[in-house]
Amino acid sequence: MERETLEVDVLVVGAGPAGLSFAIQLARLGKEQNQELGILVLDKAEEFGHHSLSGAVLDPKAVLELFPQAREEGFPVQAEVEDDALWILSRQGKHEARGLFCPEPFRNHGNWIVSLNETVKWLAEKAEAEGVEVYPGFAGAEVLQDESGAVIGVRTVDQGRDKNGEPKSTFQPGMDIQARLTVFAEGTRGSLTKQLIAKKKLMDDRNPQVWAVGVKELWELPKSLEGKVYHTAGWPLGKAVYGGGWIYGLPNNQVSIGFVMAMDHGDPGFDYHATMQRWKTHPNMRELLEGGKLIRYGAKTIPEGGLFSMTKLAGDGFLIVGDSAGFMNTRRLKGIHLAMKSGMLAAQAAAPALAKEKCLEQDLAAYEQSFRQSWAYEELHKVRNFRQGFQKGFTYGFLRAGLDMMLGGRLPGRLKLQSDHARYRKTGAATAPTALSFDGKLTFDKLTDVYASGTQHEENQPCHLVVTDPNLCTERCTEEYGNPCQHFCPAAVYEWRQEGEEGPGLIINASNCVHCKTCDIADPYQIIDWVVPEGGGPVYTGM
Ligand code: SF4
Repeated sequence: MERETLEVDVLVVGAGPAGLSFAIQLARLGKEQNQELGILVLDKAEEFGHHSLSGAVLDPKAVLELFPQAREEGFPVQAEVEDDALWILSRQGKHEARGLFCPEPFRNHGNWIVSLNETVKWLAEKAEAEGVEVYPGFAGAEVLQDESGAVIGVRTVDQGRDKNGEPKSTFQPGMDIQARLTVFAEGTRGSLTKQLIAKKKLMDDRNPQVWAVGVKELWELPKSLEGKVYHTAGWPLGKAVYGGGWIYGLPNNQVSIGFVMAMDHGDPGFDYHATMQRWKTHPNMRELLEGGKLIRYGAKTIPEGGLFSMTKLAGDGFLIVGDSAGFMNTRRLKGIHLAMKSGMLAAQAAAPALAKEKCLEQDLAAYEQSFRQSWAYEELHKVRNFRQGFQKGFTYGFLRAGLDMMLGGRLPGRLKLQSDHARYRKTGAATAPTALSFDGKLTFDKLTDVYASGTQHEENQPCHLVVTDPNLCTERCTEEYGNPCQHFCPAAVYEWRQEGEEGPGLIINASNCVHCKTCDIADPYQIIDWVVPEGGGPVYTGM
């Protein structure tokens, strides 16, 4: 098959905060050094920011490093944080911790409430202004390597295949984009980064990555909460699940609410979407949302493992930045500033490496070295054992985290982690979650929420959720785990058919997918491979 080939100096896969910060910084360095660099940024979303989802309260440190006059240049700050508190919820009431009684990670005065979608759009415009080529609507499907194993670019996904994989009349083969340097900035559980990690063993000798699922809704209320930032702990989570909620007040009477739940709880019947809906039925949440209406819905996984769960950052011909590498401070619930900083540090290492014909690992190693000398490393090093502690039980994690915080992160040791999927208990169908009825006003079923995510996909295309061994679903999974995919997917993509001529089996409603990547991580046998569809996905405007 004839494929078009495009050659560039640098290819960035993923237009999130990390990839765009990389491109902006590299373009500037290129100009300073009179180095003409062709930099291309691709993103699978049809418009920049459409697949970008976060809370989000931003520590502005990295933005101000890249744009010291960010506010004057119109950086889209929705509100500055004016009031913050931690709500500790019991079934019926709450205890509010504020001021000095509010734990330090939940204090946000001086931080900015942003929409990640708006932030990404703004960064994409800035990148274009620096001469970077930015193309939304192109998804990387395969990593290209030369005979030595060096990464030499990416093949984009074929367009116009039918659901059996046969070419339709509109068929167009994906393009080979060859680059001297490829930067993987795909965000959480990037599908190309996953291929690369496996091929190059980039996680060897490290803790496995562990994730959380964040389920978010944007609401319009009859009153304004602008500038208010509340986090919640406790109900409806028991001690087995690490997580909590957020309430961020936006302008125009809007509020971002969401619930984050770690994925290492071991319960195959756990339903992330239903837990978030249950959280909204707490009397204080009910009162807060009274008279309001749902505007948007979304879900996303979050890499929580910390410093010891980060990938190797560079190799021959490639760099990994942002969430794809695991830049996330779980204790602070913040990663955007770290993602941006990783992009900037990667660009500083890439500029001299690009002066040579090939970008080899030894030239790109400066990225990891400069990370180790940066504030990003210092911040992550202080909390390097934070998340692992909670895997040993809530009480242990809480006490260890408190002591370590008092000692400024000096508690010694390197705690281990078990991957999320390895922790499931074999409880079979007995673990189906308690049914929750949805009233359509305060609580919504998955399909209503999927509609609010704006997601859509062409139906007649190969399924982008590849179950590599479907027999396992019926032969083992039903009996061992009760088919957890029907519970963990926050978008009702997986349905378990009990009856019918064909007997029990899996139905995959791929067009509902909101690209959260939960299934790729949470499947107990690791047989779900999330690959890029030929287009579509959620539309996270304003999120
Ligand atoms: Fe998320 Fe997978 Fe469901 Fe898509 S199919 S919404 S990636 S869990």
